[in-house]
Amino acid sequence: MGPSVSVAVIGAGVAGLCAARELKSEGHRVVLFEKASCIGGTWAYDPRVESDPLSLDPDREIVHGSLYRSLRTNLPRQLMGFSDYPFVKRQNGDPRTFPGHEEVLRFLNEFATEFGLVELGRFNTEVVRVTRVGTRSDKWLVESKTRGSDSVSREVFEAVVVCAGNFVEPEIAPVEGE
Ligand SMILES: Cc1cc2nc3c(=O)[nH]c(=O)nc-3n(C[C@H](O)[C@H](O)[C@H](O)COP(=O)(O)OP(=O)(O)OC[C@H]3O[C@@H](n4cnc5c(N)ncnc54)[C@H](O)[C@@H]3O)c2cc1C
Repeated sequence: MGPSVSVAVIGAGVAGLCAARELKSEGHRVVLFEKASCIGGTWAYDPRVESDPLSLDPDREIVHGSLYRSLRTNLPRQLMGFSDYPFVKRQNGDPRTFPGHEEVLRFLNEFATEFGLVELGRFNTEVVRVTRVGTRSDKWLVESKTRGSDSVSREVFEAVVVCAGNFVEPEIAPVEGE
């Protein structure tokens, strides 16, 4: 095990949880920033739909999730677990091979609880900017805002892992003549 460093992990979806778990198990000091109030990212279903479905308006209220209510996984559960923490059928759970989205969130909550990741979470806290401290430093200044507050918190970390998701903004193909 190398020296322990402070790490900001941005996003508590599947990628952020996985990163936080590995870093924690190596003895690093992790803060898990999450702008939502809970873990799960994509799998934390939000029934709202953005007012601007093409995401062209920069001032729109962003809805992170893009699941619909009846969505089931499009991969079999055997491919969605972690190598040492499989996504198995649970008592009173959704036993289907392609379960509903609620079952995935339940699985991620169990994973986070089992490995003590919820305690690392700073929820309702959006990272608004990450900059290197000085030109030669290996440290990073992470600026974040907690929901309901206008003030910006500034903290320095030795490493940053960005797990902010990639399905929030639709890809709009440039079509000539459109
Ligand atoms: C409709 C749909 C269906 C899918 N179905 C499947 C499936 O069946 N099987 C499968 O394996 N995969 C599926 N996927 C892929 C899915 O994206 C991945 O399973 C996984 O959820 C991606 O996790 P992630 O952590 O990369 O991102 P996300 O789940 O998007 O998590 C990113 C997190 O970062 C947070 N965040 C973002 N910006 C900030 C910020 N600035 N500050 C703080 N927090 C921030 C967000 O709030 C969010 O919680 C599907 C995706 C979609 C959109």
